[in-house]
Amino acid sequence: MTRQTNGRGRLFDNILETVGDTPCIRINNIGPANATIYVKAEAFNPAGSVKDRLALNIIEAAEASGELQPGQTVIEATSGNTGIGLAMVCAAKGYPLIITMAESFSVERRKLMRFLGAKVILTPKEQKAFGMYEKTVELAKKHGWFMASQFETPANADIHENTTAREIMTDFDGERLDYFVSGYGTGGTVAGVSRVLRKERPDTKIILTEPANAALVGSGEAQERTAAGGPARGHSAWAPHPVQGWTPDFIPLVLQEALDNEGYDELLPVAGPDGIEWSKKLARQEGIFTGISGGATFAAAMKVAETAPDGSVILCMLPDTGERYLSTPLFDGVAADMDDEELELMRSTPGCQLG
Ligand code: PMP
Repeated sequence: MTRQTNGRGRLFDNILETVGDTPCIRINNIGPANATIYVKAEAFNPAGSVKDRLALNIIEAAEASGELQPGQTVIEATSGNTGIGLAMVCAAKGYPLIITMAESFSVERRKLMRFLGAKVILTPKEQKAFGMYEKTVELAKKHGWFMASQFETPANADIHENTTAREIMTDFDGERLDYFVSGYGTGGTVAGVSRVLRKERPDTKIILTEPANAALVGSGEAQERTAAGGPARGHSAWAPHPVQGWTPDFIPLVLQEALDNEGYDELLPVAGPDGIEWSKKLARQEGIFTGISGGATFAAAMKVAETAPDGSVILCMLPDTGERYLSTPLFDGVAADMDDEELELMRSTPGCQLG
């Protein structure tokens, strides 16, 4: 029978109403033999990542509290996805937006934010995430801008409690859910989801992952903080890693909640190159297009399956789309020109050949 779809049964008043309600999709070809993995594909959000949720909530919470005035400029330090989400929200609501971003993050991210109307101020990569954060605080103070503060604001984990976690509860209602696997950037996803799972699905184990060569949580070394909860300095366990959007060079206050309240059961580090490999496999063998952090979270989910009881069900977050990584190592080896096999196929019939 021909596939038929019926629409969403409603009209949307603006793009922001389409944030959230992302699908959980079963893995069929590359999963483990003894367990079932589902992925929650955050690329279905309108600006392509999990951070659309937080961007919307930060702005709406600040509007409600009066912290953000009509037409006031918004500023944020971001590795990209929060900036893209904020650019969408600020465009729809009419706020000017300034983004500070380390020069090391992918060029696509800068261009996407600028395309959505934001100004992007680049910071030196040597000064890491901490440097970009300090620059943001300095600019916000000097110009009287509203700082979105994704690493500290309660609006971050709250939106995951109220949307991401609720979606999981609904979609797994009456179904097994043995493990929930997530990495962290700000920690909003894991902190918000664990608030709900701990109460409503206490048997679900929460697995946190981070880059093996930047294992901040694994190091056990506490983060020094300012009075406002921001980082007082960079964390000594950090090293450059390829998982963009994961693990800045400090432990965010938002993540600290999950660390302090037993918001996870096990910490499983993954190597960055494994994330790249699994992202490629998800694309080629499942048709699921996600970025490096999605691949890295999936790598952790595969490790979980190694020791999971038979028949286990694992849910793995896929935070964004792979399209955001065309200029990064994720696409190394993906050529623009035809390879030998493609050339041979072209020549296998006489018509329409490139010279
Ligand atoms: N992956 C990517 C690509 C991200 O941009 C982010 C957020 N910075 C995350 C994972 C982690 O999400 P969270 O901030 O909720 O911990």
